[in-house]
Amino acid sequence: MDIDPIKEWLPQLSKPVVISGPCSAESREQVLETCKRISESGRVSILRAGIWKPRTRPNSFEGVGEIGLEWLKEASDLTGLPCIIEVANEQHIRSAVKMGIDMFWIGARTTVNPFSVQEIADALEGTDIPVFVKNPINPDLQLWIGALERLNNAGVKKLAAIHRGFSGFEKSLYRNVPKWDFPIELKRQFPELPILCDPSHIGGSRDLISIISQKALDLDMDGLMIECHISPDKALSDASQQITPDRLKELLEGLVVRDKDIKDAALRSKLEKLRLEIDVIDQEILEKLASRFNVIKDIGEEKKVNGITILQVERWNQILATRKDLADKLGLSEEFVSRLLQIIHKESIGNQIKIMNENTNSVT
Ligand code: PEP
Ligand code: MN
Repeated sequence: MDIDPIKEWLPQLSKPVVISGPCSAESREQVLETCKRISESGRVSILRAGIWKPRTRPNSFEGVGEIGLEWLKEASDLTGLPCIIEVANEQHIRSAVKMGIDMFWIGARTTVNPFSVQEIADALEGTDIPVFVKNPINPDLQLWIGALERLNNAGVKKLAAIHRGFSGFEKSLYRNVPKWDFPIELKRQFPELPILCDPSHIGGSRDLISIISQKALDLDMDGLMIECHISPDKALSDASQQITPDRLKELLEGLVVRDKDIKDAALRSKLEKLRLEIDVIDQEILEKLASRFNVIKDIGEEKKVNGITILQVERWNQILATRKDLADKLGLSEEFVSRLLQIIHKESIGNQIKIMNENTNSVT
């Protein structure tokens, strides 16, 4: 992707870039007061507010609509900070551009729909407005990349991604499960793309925001989007995850921004030495895995010749139980070792199925 470096389009800002403001604009006073107090923290670069809200169920608060653009613009003029809103269609863009809103984000429920994203991309063609794309609700990296590409193809070069977690069926500590490997893989494939984290929508509760934010910074993310409300308990949307401007200031001050570049030569060479050790260990692990699969192959051939089923459930239970003890003794997480064994076992079974099916025609 052809992306302008974030420093060029947000030059005044230091890392991390912080976007903050209410989940929804609710009244002129609420927007102005919240934004004024946020700006006094001195740590927020961009003011946010939801104007049209994509709610899961109808008959809940669906945003104040166009009037909210005026309130946010007024807050932006008052504080001197640029402002950002969520857009989901061409009409939103037209109204927001007319009002002079500085930046847009695309919400998780819109990123899932290529028709909507394309409509937004077409409407933005020829403008120079920065766009932040949240991940889709479902864990589909290609869909996230696809949305970013549609915008980039339409000439949007001031582009960033926002990681807001993924919805899941299983009960979880999080409102939206972070699945950190997604932003990591996005960064690996597009190192020039800035990635922010939205701990408010990942956590869904106030007490998780700080810990998620710190993790995002430790994973070298470029910034944070945090929801903030003058009186969070009275918020018309996402009340349980919004924090006061005072708490926001305190939270941002408590974050540790670590260095990505290793400037100290002694430290650099120490890390290089340790990384070489890791390279050797990884090689050993892979060689051992290759030997294990060779044995699996021999067992598969024996099972085939002797007409024995591939899955032997008692043996599998025995593997899990003995390796659990071993994990314990070695100080490894039981949960991790069990997940690792599941992957190895699945591959082993797949290999043996292949053996069973080989040359079956000649066996008569
Ligand atoms: C929001 O930022 O208020 C919002 C609706 O976010 P998401 O699209 O991540 O649910
Ligand atoms: Mn919200």
